[in-house]
Amino acid sequence: MMLEIDDLHAGYRRLEILHGVTMHLEKNEIVSLIGANGAGKTTTLRALSGLVAPHRGRVLLDGEDICGRRADRIVRSGLVHVAQDRALFGSLPVSENLEMGAYTRKRGATAESLERVYELFPILAERRNQRADTMSGGQQQMLAIGRAMMAEPRVLTLDEPSVGLAPKLAAEVLEAIVRIRDDGVTVLIVEQNAAQALAISDRAYVIESGSIVLTGTGTELAHDDRVKSAYLGI
Ligand code: ATP
Repeated sequence: MMLEIDDLHAGYRRLEILHGVTMHLEKNEIVSLIGANGAGKTTTLRALSGLVAPHRGRVLLDGEDICGRRADRIVRSGLVHVAQDRALFGSLPVSENLEMGAYTRKRGATAESLERVYELFPILAERRNQRADTMSGGQQQMLAIGRAMMAEPRVLTLDEPSVGLAPKLAAEVLEAIVRIRDDGVTVLIVEQNAAQALAISDRAYVIESGSIVLTGTGTELAHDDRVKSAYLGI
C-alpha cells in the first residue's frame, strides 16, 4: 500500500471536522475523494500534508508514519500537495516557479525533473520565460501541478484541480493527471466535478460530515444511485 490513512481525526483548534477518516491508496492508483461543500475534503488533504495538525490517527506513506510531521518534512518524505489556490509566484517566470518546487532536493536533481515536467506539460516549456500571472487559469493549474512534480512525489494530492476551468481545459488537466500516474506517481484527488474525477479514478471514496460513507471503483460509484443524485446532479 502506498498510502494508508487510519482513523484520522483533525480539525481547527478544538473543532473536530474529520471524525476518523480511513482510506488507502495502492501504488499507482488514482483515487478520488468526493463530497458536498464543507464535508471535509480540503481538511483531509491539509491534514495529510501537515497544514492542519491531526488530532489522532495514522498516516502511513509506504509504511512510514508521517502523521503529525511538519509540512516540509512531509514533502521530503514524498507526499506533495497542490492547494486549490495554487499559490504561484505571479511575478516570476514559469521556469522559476518550477525551480521553487525543487527546494527540498539536492542541486543537480533539478534539471532532470524540469525536463520531465516540460515533457508532461509542453505548454510550460513553450512559456518558460513568461510571468506566471499572465498565464490562463488552466495553464496556471498545470504550472502548480508541474511545480509539485519538481519535488519528485511518490504521492501527489490535488485539491479541485479543475475548478473554475472551461470543460476542455479541465479535461486537459485531468489527462495530465493520468500521465503523471502512468509515470509512477500515486494520486489522491478532491474534485467538485465528481463525474470527470470518477472517470479517471481507479477507486473513490465519498465523505460526508467528516466520515467516509461509501467506497468503490470509479465506475461503481459513477453508477451508484446515491452518488448520482447527490454528487453528479443526475
Ligand atoms: P469545499 O468544497 O467547500 O472546500 P470541503 O469538503 O473541502 O468543502 P473543508 O474545506 O474541509 O470542506 O471544510 C470542512 C469544514 O471545516 C467546514 O465546515 C468549514 O467551515 C470548516 N473549516 C474550514 N476551514 C476552517 C478554518 N480555517 N477554521 C475553522 N473551520 C474551518
